[in-house]
Amino acid sequence: NKILDVIIIGAGPIGIACALECKKRNWNYLVIEKGALTNSLFNYPLNMTFFSSSEKLEIDNIPFISNNPKPTRNEALEYYRRVTTSNNLNINLYEEVKTITKTNKYFEIATNKNNYSAKQVIIATGFYDIPNLLNVPGEELPKVFHYYKEAHPFTLQNIAVVGASNSSVDAALEIYRKGGNVTMIVRGETIGERVKYWVRPDILNRIDEGSIKAYFNSEITSIDTDFIEIKTPEGNKKLPNDYVVALTGYQPNFKFLEHVGIKFSEDEKHIPTYNPDTMESNVEGLYLAGVICGGMETHKWFIENSRIHAKLIAEDIASKN
Ligand code: FAD
Repeated sequence: NKILDVIIIGAGPIGIACALECKKRNWNYLVIEKGALTNSLFNYPLNMTFFSSSEKLEIDNIPFISNNPKPTRNEALEYYRRVTTSNNLNINLYEEVKTITKTNKYFEIATNKNNYSAKQVIIATGFYDIPNLLNVPGEELPKVFHYYKEAHPFTLQNIAVVGASNSSVDAALEIYRKGGNVTMIVRGETIGERVKYWVRPDILNRIDEGSIKAYFNSEITSIDTDFIEIKTPEGNKKLPNDYVVALTGYQPNFKFLEHVGIKFSEDEKHIPTYNPDTMESNVEGLYLAGVICGGMETHKWFIENSRIHAKLIAEDIASKN
């Protein structure tokens, strides 16, 4: 079993950025990805537009040409795909890392297909695999979705969109425009402040004119096959319902980080421990990169401000060897 210099777990934008840094230094590295290349982006809504302009999504200064200031999902997939193929990066797709074990000197990595040894490991597994659940009766029904792809299936149907962040607002507007009857159920008192500045007026105006209904300071309390129950400041209500699109955020796989010995902040943010100058975690030789670094604060890191992690890590590894 050959000992690799670096194993990178996750082929999202940041895992790919880490691979480019390893390649530049002629290290023996491998990226292991459980899904497709940039699996999170692949699973985004089909018509989604990024909030970042394309140059802010570039890795290793490789130009990202897009026809509009804000690129679409398809353009981003094209970009990261071309960066990967034209640089011949070493990536194993559809292989899931199950455990990482630190022995005296090396890390032993077990996947669903193979075992590997590496001197250093970079975890860049993001947060898009585990949705935050509503935890209400009926959530397990097949009419409830925690990921949104496209509007067509919801035409002429009664749809409840739960949440008021970018994902929920994009879904609500798109479904409304494709002929769905949309009701937003929002826990807070207004539409999220971080909603894209060019989208926010659109949703506020649709709610004001009544074309999209919205219940603020409200929660779903149960889901049934043809209705939902909600709790609002005006009392409990029962609404006819065909589908629930619950876009209430996602969270990193904390168990995966815990099993290899990573420690977390004690508060509800659950931030993993790492040195911000090097991105090395409390486990020597084990690094964290990308949005996973924010713990429950999943809006803290994004591509734009975490692509730098790749360089910080490579410089630290280089300085130690
Ligand atoms: P990810 O892209 O999530 O990559 C992690 C990878 O690890 C995944 O491919 C996953 O399959 C893989 N993985 C997980 N566990 C394992 C395992 N055990 N074994 C092997 N592989 C594993 N950011 C921006 O900068 N600008 C934007 O405009 C923007 N818009 C967004 C819109 C939406 C709808 C969402 C959800 C996020 C958006 N973000 C945006 C945030 C953006 O998704 C993240 O910044 C970006 O995907 C993070 O990259 P990453 O490489 O850290 O993680």
